[in-house]
Amino acid sequence: MLEHRQFYINGAWVNPAKAHDFDVIDPSTEEKCAVISLGGQADTDAAVAAAKGAFDSWSQTSKEERLALLEKLLDVYNARQEEMAVAMSMEMGAPISMSRTNQVGAGSWHLEGFIKAFRAFEFESDFTATEKTLKEPIGVVACITPWNWPMNQIVLKAVPAIATGCTVVLKPSEIAPLSGALFAEFMHEAGFPAGVFNMLNGDGVGVGSQLSVHPDVDMVSFTGSSRAGILISKAAADTLKRVSLELGGKGANIIFADAGEKAMKYGADRCFRNSGQSCNAPTRMLVERSVYDQAVTIAADVATKTHVGPASEEGKHIGPVVSKAQFEKIQGLIEVGMGEARLVAGGLGRPDGLNRGYYVKPTVFADVTNDMRIAQEEIFGPVLSIIPFDSEEEAIAIANDTPYGLTNYIQTPDDDKRRRVARRVRSGMVETNAQGFAQGSPFGGYKQSGNGREGGTYGLEEFLEVKAVSGWSSK
Ligand code: NAD
Repeated sequence: MLEHRQFYINGAWVNPAKAHDFDVIDPSTEEKCAVISLGGQADTDAAVAAAKGAFDSWSQTSKEERLALLEKLLDVYNARQEEMAVAMSMEMGAPISMSRTNQVGAGSWHLEGFIKAFRAFEFESDFTATEKTLKEPIGVVACITPWNWPMNQIVLKAVPAIATGCTVVLKPSEIAPLSGALFAEFMHEAGFPAGVFNMLNGDGVGVGSQLSVHPDVDMVSFTGSSRAGILISKAAADTLKRVSLELGGKGANIIFADAGEKAMKYGADRCFRNSGQSCNAPTRMLVERSVYDQAVTIAADVATKTHVGPASEEGKHIGPVVSKAQFEKIQGLIEVGMGEARLVAGGLGRPDGLNRGYYVKPTVFADVTNDMRIAQEEIFGPVLSIIPFDSEEEAIAIANDTPYGLTNYIQTPDDDKRRRVARRVRSGMVETNAQGFAQGSPFGGYKQSGNGREGGTYGLEEFLEVKAVSGWSSK
């Protein structure tokens, strides 16, 4: 069993001020796989003080100095990717093959994207012949991250913050803290100066809340539940710090009759990916009535054929969900779904042959109406709701009838229709015809899915203040 009780503060691994052990559970086995310590106020204060102390000198470093360190970080990340894959697989249950490719790959993809964007980024521009506009780092940034895509979230926050000259205190999810500790090792090995990056563990009511109210934290960048996003926003209000939020989603996948069988398969498969634990998952499949029965049959078939198994096994299966709490929440919502819609695949309990571990059956509900709880609530498990529609207008109305607005999906070969609908759906991202987004593309939501944009140039902008200076030139 791993012991990871220390925090990375001011360039060194330090013991917590007070012992507060917390077990990390491997969701594939329900066994304890590591122990960490939850920090308290003294640890939070030490980490924030280190970040504040480093800010003056770090914010004055040149672009070239910072770029060289980011490139070194990418080298370290690539050299140690197997360790990272194993850590994430164990802490949150991503199957090892998927952890190597998608989970680890998301981190290097965004890191490369930031390096490219940073190289081209202009921190100064002429507003008029005599006036200059400067972009400057906001200060000390607290990064609070979830467990579902650990490296994706950490890189999307810590890297642009540091690239722009901010200093960072990272609090990874206490449920999946091993990858965060490893990332701190990478930062150390890359050679970032002491205090520029700090990492401590803790829970939401402890370190998370302490960072949100801290007078020396200038910004909180958060990804996770809407519940915590609201609490953080309220807690941060007294010090008027900037709060950037990436919250949940309930993405609609609009499948028109001309999209074909492949789009239906893709839609179901995409919903179950990462065991349904993605904020941008297409969890509401909206299908044009003439092909509705076919879509239900295909989605049920995909669910039945989706193999579920332990994270340590190689292969294309999906793993368990992250925790007992998530398992129970998902079971509760499947039960709700069985009372309000037609169950066509999956259902309650673990898949056959699995009696330990937080494994959920890939589940499909048909004849769902958008007012049902399973259509409105983010389930965060491999559960798909299928809703029929009769017209383009109706599909748009259903897609938009949600408090969320992260990613919507459109499937049709008709260019005009696809573009028309893409303009009307209210979300920060619209993925069409299974076409992935480019590196550095802005990731973020409308409405209750949050207010931030992460990745590439947009992601760098998040951490900057804009300063207008008159009389820059006397000519
Ligand atoms: P969460 O929001 O409770 O936790 C995410 C992070 O926020 C963790 O680091 C946690 O310690 C911290 N946190 C929690 N409460 C806080 C508070 N009051 N102040 C400051 N920090 C706080 O998410 P969870 O409990 O891990 O998962 C619960 C639900 O959140 C899931 O069912 C899912 O719907 C949603 N979720 C969404 C995303 C996403 O990417 N949108 C990611 C993870 C979880």
